Amino acid sequence: MGEDSETVGATGAEAAGDGTAGAERATGGCLCGAVRYEAHGPPLATLYCHCTSCRKHTGAAAVALVGYRRDRVRYTKGAPAVYASSPGVGRAFCADCGTPLTWEGDGEDEGPLIEFLVGTMDAPERFAPARHIHYGERLAWFDTTDRLPRHAVWEDEPPVAHAPAARPED
Ligand SMILES: [Zn+2]
Ligand SMILES: [Zn+2]
Repeated sequence: MGEDSETVGATGAEAAGDGTAGAERATGGCLCGAVRYEAHGPPLATLYCHCTSCRKHTGAAAVALVGYRRDRVRYTKGAPAVYASSPGVGRAFCADCGTPLTWEGDGEDEGPLIEFLVGTMDAPERFAPARHIHYGERLAWFDTTDRLPRHAVWEDEPPVAHAPAARPED
């Protein structure tokens, strides 16, 4: 780490995952600004999660998440509160303004993982999701128009669809 100063203020132009690990830097934070973070290197994955826990944590129909190994992430201002939503899983939020910030847990081969809610990034345009997970818990009235793979639970199983589902009343 530490080779980060060149890309301060970078926006959507650069290609993610192009092998220039360390050159990429992403920053973000909560609504009130009490908590700020930065992440280094290309993200491991960017995805939509449709699970009930993410829905409850955020109040959103679905969430976009971008994941990093925990050792690629640091808080640069303040520190979030963390709610333990299940054994080994934390969900961070700003204790001042309530902004939900992360899913945190075991990334298996990658070790400890932090996934930031893409909407808390300073440049969320950079983090277009590549897949949907927990699609089986999707709200029947909600989908997105992309052709990304939709996994019922996780990507270790083949996707159940590559297109938006019809709404029940359609
Ligand atoms: Zn805040
Ligand atoms: Zn989820």
